[in-house]
Amino acid sequence: MGYLNGFAVTLKKLLHNTATGEVVTTQYPEEKRPKPDRLHGRHVLNRYEDGMEKCIGCELCAGVCPARCIYVRGADNPIDEPVSPGERYGYVYEINYLRCIHCDLCIEACPTEAITESKLFEFSFTNRQDAIYTKAELVVDDEGNPKHLPWEDWSDAETAHPRTSAWVRATAPSGSAAYENRVAWSGELGWGVRAPEPGQTAEDPMPVPAADDHDDHDHDHHDNDHGGGH
Ligand code: SF4
Ligand code: SF4
Repeated sequence: MGYLNGFAVTLKKLLHNTATGEVVTTQYPEEKRPKPDRLHGRHVLNRYEDGMEKCIGCELCAGVCPARCIYVRGADNPIDEPVSPGERYGYVYEINYLRCIHCDLCIEACPTEAITESKLFEFSFTNRQDAIYTKAELVVDDEGNPKHLPWEDWSDAETAHPRTSAWVRATAPSGSAAYENRVAWSGELGWGVRAPEPGQTAEDPMPVPAADDHDDHDHDHHDNDHGGGH
């Protein structure tokens, strides 16, 4: 008999909506609901303000990906025409969207915030090859925004806030606990430094550990290591 309670809920909601004129059905795709701030969508490969690519071809993203859907090959930067500020750059970069589960571990792992995700999830393919995004699709344009590809359905909301930047990361930049929950996102072409999240303040200065603290910390570690090892 318990299922009758479910019918009662539906009936109650129907009567309520009829009385108030409230409509809960969204006419997709004409009407799109605002995306949550932290929605994990299609990736982008970011560039610095001077146009250089942030990816240094370290392959950490590929190594951490549980779906094994990232393929990266790094190469030495050409001396006369470097692609990234690092020694190396991402020569080949591919993401297979037939496998990606949008867990964002790649973003967590990236040391340079090169890879982040936009809010776009409305894209589809008719063959397997098209599901593999390469640098041609992933690297942002000259304004720092994701390329709008013909088979992607970008809405106004996604275009107004095209990138999630690295703020979807749960961990701190560079993995330092001192930077956890601090506003430390790098500036990005066409977007700027991201506003602080709720509970954070832009004015709150980032604590820079004193050299002595570092030494003490290191010594502590060594002491602990030493103690633990014997
Ligand atoms: S979001 Fe997750 S599954 Fe997708 S490419 Fe990144 S690490 Fe792999
Ligand atoms: S996207 Fe980031 S983690 Fe992946 S290869 Fe480039 S720099 Fe390394």
